[in-house]
Amino acid sequence: MHELSIAASIVEQATEHCRRAGGTRVTTIRLRIGRLAGIHPAALRFGFDLVAADTPLADATLAIVDVPVRVWCPACSAEVELPGLQRFACPGCGLPTGEIRAGRELEIESLTLEGHGQPAQEPVR
Ligand SMILES: [Zn+2]
Repeated sequence: MHELSIAASIVEQATEHCRRAGGTRVTTIRLRIGRLAGIHPAALRFGFDLVAADTPLADATLAIVDVPVRVWCPACSAEVELPGLQRFACPGCGLPTGEIRAGRELEIESLTLEGHGQPAQEPVR
């Protein structure tokens, strides 16, 4: 289950960010996961609960932001969202296109920290 090692690396990154920002615990972690990232959210949540124990993320809410696949269509000169992954073609004009602009994301969007001062939502980049 590769989600377990992904969860471990996410928890590690978030823990480091939390410490640097002076937080003592993470209450919410928001992840952006593209539909092409090959991640099963249920498996990731399971892995997250395992690896987050005894870290500042132990009771954190894991919010998953689903990122749809977007491709560039040269005929329409537009970035379009694919309705599914069966066909990589523009839903507007039908032109096949493999120019992926979004959908491979696997990143921490933000953390909500508790610590000294107010809970703060921290963008993570
Ligand atoms: Zn098109």
